[in-house]
Amino acid sequence: MTIKSFNPPIRTLMGPGPSDVHPRILEALSRPTIGHLDPIFVGMMEEVKSLLQYAFQTENQLTIPVSAPGSAGMETCFVNLIEAGDQVVVCQNGAFGGRMKENVERSGGIPIMVEDAWGKTIDLNKVEDALKANPAAKILAFVHAETSTGVSADAKSLCELARKYDCLTIVDAVTSLGGTELRVDEWGIDAIYSGTQKCLSCIPGISPVSFSERAVERIKSRTSKVQSWFLDLNLVMGYWGASSKRAYHHTAPVNPLYALHESLVMLQNEGLENAWQRHAMNHEVLKAGVEAMNMEFLVDAAYRLPQLNTVCVPDGIDEAAVRQRLLSQYNLEIGAGLGTLAGKVWRIGLMGFSSKLENITLCVNALELTLKDLGHDFTTGAASEAMLQTLKSQERA
Ligand SMILES: *Cc1c(COP(=O)(O)O)cnc(C)c1O
Repeated sequence: MTIKSFNPPIRTLMGPGPSDVHPRILEALSRPTIGHLDPIFVGMMEEVKSLLQYAFQTENQLTIPVSAPGSAGMETCFVNLIEAGDQVVVCQNGAFGGRMKENVERSGGIPIMVEDAWGKTIDLNKVEDALKANPAAKILAFVHAETSTGVSADAKSLCELARKYDCLTIVDAVTSLGGTELRVDEWGIDAIYSGTQKCLSCIPGISPVSFSERAVERIKSRTSKVQSWFLDLNLVMGYWGASSKRAYHHTAPVNPLYALHESLVMLQNEGLENAWQRHAMNHEVLKAGVEAMNMEFLVDAAYRLPQLNTVCVPDGIDEAAVRQRLLSQYNLEIGAGLGTLAGKVWRIGLMGFSSKLENITLCVNALELTLKDLGHDFTTGAASEAMLQTLKSQERA
């Protein structure tokens, strides 16, 4: 049998990532491949670094895209900053905090867990108690935007606590970068990693990271080698460093970096704060529609992520059947619940280019038709009315 070319369907992506990729970014991806040491490409790499500094709001010199997905950015932070026996306080209130623990253990460190329920935010008092009780701890690690639950962490206060107890911070910003307020320098974050396929609306497979001077000092003064050759920043710095004699380390993903460059140019054009505001306003519109259909959000408004909406599945509704129908009839992808939330919630992403009114109206209308047919009780048309009121209050109607 001859296998034919692969042609994916055109979907609307409103799950936990990837989000819709802007056509400008797909077009950038298809530009001619050039050598990764070509001076023209090196010039573009320098622009990517400075655009990332803008996105992260940092002047950190070591601000680069790791050539692999968000999980590799996570691993880059842990393997470089941890040496055998180091104690690391890890906050866990969802799936990704659990992966941090796994990373600490595999890097030879000792995780000290601070746990909160899935759907609740990180309790600062518990974190302070753990830091007090473990004065030898060297690092505080937490997830800024927990994509498994839709919960945001108070990153600014957590970083203040870390400073007070002389710890470096490792922050997961895979879902927050470009979507909600994030200020690396002002908040004093030491090591941060993100992903390209969430609020940057770029293709999956690259992980922007940034390290403070204090973190770089820690990495340079390690007494043991970083266990991963590929992710060892002491080696990667020679490739992404400012020096003109850039040394071959690995072959950067040339075309994906064109795509990242384009997505960051678009973010710069929109303005970071405007992007944060767009995510916040669009969440309000979706919320109005969802609540008008007699459904509730899992997460308290005070720490709810606008880019990842966790909606409780109404009683008696088969959540998988709804997702299946949205996908097959409307080409619309929304996410399922993870872990303890499996079967109980949907995760509706409004990330990056996906955070726009045409996606929201598609999603709310498709949910309205599907849920009505499956027997959920609500007033048809109430969602449109509620969304209109919200748009009017935002002066967008
Ligand atoms: C998506 C995600 C990751 C992992 O990123 P990949 O690109 O899938 O490896 C890590 N942390 C959070 C919070 C995420 O949402």
